[in-house]
Amino acid sequence: MKLLLSEIGPDGATFDGEDPVETLVWPYTERDVVRPAGPMRWHVEARLLGEELVCTGSASALFEGVCCRCGGPLSREYGDGFAVSMRVGPDQVEADLTSELRETILLALPNHPICSENCPGPAAIAPAAGEGDGEGQAGPWAALDALSRG
Ligand SMILES: [Zn+2]
Repeated sequence: MKLLLSEIGPDGATFDGEDPVETLVWPYTERDVVRPAGPMRWHVEARLLGEELVCTGSASALFEGVCCRCGGPLSREYGDGFAVSMRVGPDQVEADLTSELRETILLALPNHPICSENCPGPAAIAPAAGEGDGEGQAGPWAALDALSRG
């Protein structure tokens, strides 16, 4: 995200937009639990204080993958607010905030992403306690029980 310093008036300026998903420079691997699936979106409020550019706002992107709690599909927007200031030279035309916005999004990614705050957890794939114990009901735990009985 590059903003033109000439667009920032005495009262500052607001910028909204998005950059292509490639801007996140995600190192795609087979082991990704989640990966970016949409553009990097941003909202930036910029002010010029002399030679200091002060920006606040937010950045986010859509991520898709596998829920770490229930194992189901995950599709969520991750992001956060940010604040940054940088010195701008008298001949400088634009300021590049790409790395700050990218960092804001990557730092907002949880270590164990879940599909929603209402994720049902393992209950979504396994029967509740006691349900798999009856005859003829082969829950996922029944197979493990059979192995442990050897
Ligand atoms: Zn889940």
